[in-house]
Amino acid sequence: MAPKLLLTFVIYRLISTVGLTLDPTDLLRLEVDGHLSVDPSDVKTASVDFGMMNRAEPLAVLHPSSAEDVARLVGAAYGSAHGLSVSARGHGHSINGQAQTSSGVVIEMSASKGVRQWGLPRVSEQSRYVDAWGGELWIDVLKTTLEHGLAPKSWTDYLYLSVGGTLSNAGISGQAFNHGPQISNVYELDVVTGKGELLTCSEEQNSELFHAVLGGLGQFGIITRARIGLEPAPQRVRWIRVLYSNFSTFTKDQEYLISLHGQPPNQKFDYVEGFVIVDEGLINNWRSSFFSPRNPVKISSFGTNGGVLYCLEVTKNYHESTADTIDQDVEALLKRLDFIPSSVFTTDLPYVDFLDRVHKAELKLRSKGLWDVPHPWLNLFVPRSRIADFDEGVFKGILGNKTSGPILIYPMNKNKWDDRTSVVTPEEDVFYLVALLRSALDSGDEAQSLEYLSNQNRQILRFCDDAGIKVKQYLPHYTTQEDWVDHFGDDKWTLFSKRKMDFDPRRILATGQRIFKPMAASSW
Ligand code: FAD
Repeated sequence: MAPKLLLTFVIYRLISTVGLTLDPTDLLRLEVDGHLSVDPSDVKTASVDFGMMNRAEPLAVLHPSSAEDVARLVGAAYGSAHGLSVSARGHGHSINGQAQTSSGVVIEMSASKGVRQWGLPRVSEQSRYVDAWGGELWIDVLKTTLEHGLAPKSWTDYLYLSVGGTLSNAGISGQAFNHGPQISNVYELDVVTGKGELLTCSEEQNSELFHAVLGGLGQFGIITRARIGLEPAPQRVRWIRVLYSNFSTFTKDQEYLISLHGQPPNQKFDYVEGFVIVDEGLINNWRSSFFSPRNPVKISSFGTNGGVLYCLEVTKNYHESTADTIDQDVEALLKRLDFIPSSVFTTDLPYVDFLDRVHKAELKLRSKGLWDVPHPWLNLFVPRSRIADFDEGVFKGILGNKTSGPILIYPMNKNKWDDRTSVVTPEEDVFYLVALLRSALDSGDEAQSLEYLSNQNRQILRFCDDAGIKVKQYLPHYTTQEDWVDHFGDDKWTLFSKRKMDFDPRRILATGQRIFKPMAASSW
């Protein structure tokens, strides 16, 4: 269909569905350079996400070719009488429909359709930054920067996520203790606000918008460009895992390692994570491609009598020119830790392979049909002072000895997070991420069912509430405004609401987050 005819069709569909009273000729004047689609396959893709627990069909899908396209569409939605909603979709890796809408348009930000005018990420070697399109996947950012011998400093465990999507949350991994989350490593953004204005913002320019958008859950604008800080790229990674049977020794060592963030590079690790092993299957699970399948690790061999084990995971980056000192540096650091002596597992691999490790696991799961299944994930920030109570109540209590997926646990330093951004973290200098990354399977085993796992998530949240453990959800999901107010706390909620009034007064953006009631209420 010719682009203008298709656009007319889309507009009439919008008019009949949400009663849009905007003069259609105004929308026709949009002259979108990209592609506005009602193709069923586009609509279907935008209706689902990685969580596979929510479905909402948009009226149309925009594949923008530029930031101006995004601004044109949002501007038109802002001008519509009934509040047509607009949701940016990065790579659809949300769990609870956060990038969906049923009464508006989804903007497919990821670059796969090839209609964009924006080129590859652009690197400034001299100033050590990269300018990336908001829908760029981190894997593509990495590939481009590596051509210049540079790489971003702070990561997520998985790289097939979009720049705009992770910056709307925080973007965390084992480097966060040292460099802060990804939102602490951004110099500048181009943002289309809910009024359809395309603005550049940074610490110095439009700073309120800059801080609002970082960790802003897509509520204040659509990120079309991010300028991200870079460092010289390491060539290789020494990747080490050690085991603990005692939780307080495990957390003491993790906290010690993150306290070294101010030390010279050779006196600290570059990445500190960890995970909980509550059953035998897990140590060799999909995130643990680290251990050779021909030589699986046996929990029983560590004398835990069926109890919970904790695995500390650390890495040291290096350049081939410094390879001769890496053994010494690693050994000196490991000597200060208190893990089970016989439990040191080491591997060595190229930097890219380490960063891209979860993709390998994805391919394995896809080949077994275990990727496109419901994911009732729960991510919590737990204050340091209560992490032992969480261990007793959840890892050793609620979870029993079955988990259905990896459980990550690692601490972060709050001083690496900027309070002016929109993200919410516990009120303590150190807090832990606990990520219950579970997959629901239709296997006949009740303990693997979606209902069972979802109930268990609710039980965990109730336990924290009853025990007064002031957790904050990461990648938060609530369905009532009361819960959102509780999540943000009074002061931050006041700021968050004011920012909404300033930057998206008609509440048209990212309605799938269910924070503010949209004008077209059916989009919840
Ligand atoms: P989407 O899910 O498409 O969007 C998320 C939200 O951001 C939506 O509200 C959307 O409207 C909004 N949004 C999207 N693009 C933009 C934009 N350009 N401008 C403004 N708003 C926008 N997170 C971590 O921090 N660390 C991890 O290690 C990590 N590992 C993961 C591993 C896997 C396998 C998966 C599935 C997720 C993981 N995540 C991790 C979570 C991830 O950060 C979130 O799913 C996040 O939403 C990014 O996904 P996305 O780019 O697909 O965004």
